[in-house]
Amino acid sequence: MTAGIVRPMIGRDSRYFWDGTAAGELRIQRCNACGALRHPPGPACPSCGALDRGHVLAAGTGTVFSYVVHRHPPVPGKELPIVIALIDLDEGVRMVGEVVDVADGDDGPEIEIGMRLRVDFNRVDDELSLPVWRRA
Ligand code: ZN
Repeated sequence: MTAGIVRPMIGRDSRYFWDGTAAGELRIQRCNACGALRHPPGPACPSCGALDRGHVLAAGTGTVFSYVVHRHPPVPGKELPIVIALIDLDEGVRMVGEVVDVADGDDGPEIEIGMRLRVDFNRVDDELSLPVWRRA
């Protein structure tokens, strides 16, 4: 079922995030020098330039900023269509995520800008859990 799924690139800057999803946590990178939150993760703080970084635990709730419905081309390990949204987390960072259980209704996908979402985790195997979003 999940054979052929596209696995994320997990590097030094994003390890904390995937360790988090494996533990059922949504983590946001935080600068240890000035406290600024940022996503996607990176080595240096865009606010103050510091390299000292940590993370905080997100509440796992947010709001749809925008979305696209992907119908084509095929995505390995996925049944189309899939809904990909830009989600404004309540902590103030923006994250890309798949929204599930908003499959096509008669008038298209049941999602709209401003809709409240809650994160869930789709366990792929022992090493990988992918965050997915559901209607809150
Ligand atoms: Zn900083």
